[in-house]
Amino acid sequence: MKKRVLVIEDNEQNLYLVTFLLEKNGYGVSAARDGVIGIEQAAREIPDLILLDIQLPLLDGYAVAKQLKSFDKLARVPIVAVTSYAMPGDREKAIESGCSGYIEKPINPDTFMKQIENFLGRCSDGKDDA
Ligand code: MN
Repeated sequence: MKKRVLVIEDNEQNLYLVTFLLEKNGYGVSAARDGVIGIEQAAREIPDLILLDIQLPLLDGYAVAKQLKSFDKLARVPIVAVTSYAMPGDREKAIESGCSGYIEKPINPDTFMKQIENFLGRCSDGKDDA
């Protein structure tokens, strides 16, 4: 089965790039453009990984991560924050909010998939069917 990634991202260019890279590498992608919809989708879809932009409308990424982590059924789903390189404090806050780690913006297409695969591998619970 395809691994599924939920991308919570309000920037169309980033969403396009990330979706392109993931789909090209055989992942299924669903997208949410704000945190409220993202939380609903995560609870419904139980993806294999959640890619979470920190700067989002309605609820920021920290608040979204905290809510996601409050669902038992999402406890084992890695949440990867997408943080701005210019905002170093974001990373610590992202981890404190329950994220497994972070990827810096701008997304580097040459290293992005390796980063994603590292997070999936590190957080794998043994039912890996890839
Ligand atoms: Mn954003």
